[in-house]
Amino acid sequence: MNVILLGPPGAGKGTQAQRLVDTHGMVQLSTGDMLRAAKASGTEMGNRVAEVMARGELVTDEIVIGLIEEKLMEGNSAGFIFDGFPRTLAQADALGALLEKTGHRLDAVIALEVDDEILVNRIVGRAEEARAAGQPVRADDNAESLKLRLTEYYKKTAPLLGYFHAKGVLQSIDAMGSIEVIATELSGMVKGAAT
Ligand code: AMP
Repeated sequence: MNVILLGPPGAGKGTQAQRLVDTHGMVQLSTGDMLRAAKASGTEMGNRVAEVMARGELVTDEIVIGLIEEKLMEGNSAGFIFDGFPRTLAQADALGALLEKTGHRLDAVIALEVDDEILVNRIVGRAEEARAAGQPVRADDNAESLKLRLTEYYKKTAPLLGYFHAKGVLQSIDAMGSIEVIATELSGMVKGAAT
């Protein structure tokens, strides 16, 4: 079972992906986490993308497709949750080709729907919580970068809604409620998509 979680920054993709890992044993593939790990370990690629990420722009398709390809080759039986990938039409095409090549299929694309004002509050809140707890704050969790992240989302990622709708795999979920309620609904959708 392979599922894409689609949605703007702050929609809760990472949180809900983690819940699906817990409840369904699926493997979370977050390109954002992979890029932050590359930056933290000081790899050449990590250093190269750090500034782009901090500004809130997308890194090149080539880099993220390479990261995903590596993980898909490893395979797993419970399936993948794609969190923050694909973010462009080129990435979506590449993912389709990679899934075909590795004998996987795409079971569902679930769009997490949230109003923009809530996104801003969630992200600014996430940064404040981390700061108060003495934890590291994401370099791109500030009002200025968020503006660019949202612009990038609407310009480059939102067209994927039409792309996956046309393929007949798009579903959507109201992602403004509590984490628990959304997790339960999402879990039901994932189960339904697998049958
Ligand atoms: P995220 O953790 O998903 O919010 O991603 C954080 C940042 O990593 C994004 O703002 C981009 O700079 C970069 N990034 C993550 N995933 C992708 C992707 N699929 N394509 C391009 N850039 C990405």
